[in-house]
Amino acid sequence: MEKQRQDAINSLEISADGSLVKCQGKCGSLFPVIKKSTAMTSSNLYKIARLEAMIRQSEKVKTRGYSYKNERQELADLLKEEEKLNVLRRLPFCSSKITNYKWYCSSCYSEADLSSRKKSI
Ligand SMILES: [Zn+2]
Repeated sequence: MEKQRQDAINSLEISADGSLVKCQGKCGSLFPVIKKSTAMTSSNLYKIARLEAMIRQSEKVKTRGYSYKNERQELADLLKEEEKLNVLRRLPFCSSKITNYKWYCSSCYSEADLSSRKKSI
């Protein structure tokens, strides 16, 4: 499942200037990417700030026998995750099991939703 999701994300077509993104549904139209909103915060941001501070501090004050390896790894993972989330938050699309985790615009999504409902009846 994670692989499918990853594939859908990787196959997203974004215009060169990053302002338009292509629907992976039937219509295949280009939609404007949602402008970055500072109002959206994530619990990761707090953790990232805390880890960065911790690592920065550790570089100033050498803690004997402790390299902060785990913290560095955790920070790298969080940053990667946050970057991905940032892109996904800005997509004007929906993605779920119905669309095989592909990113559909609202009209393609409701069509897929409808046909999946018909199948399950
Ligand atoms: Zn569409």
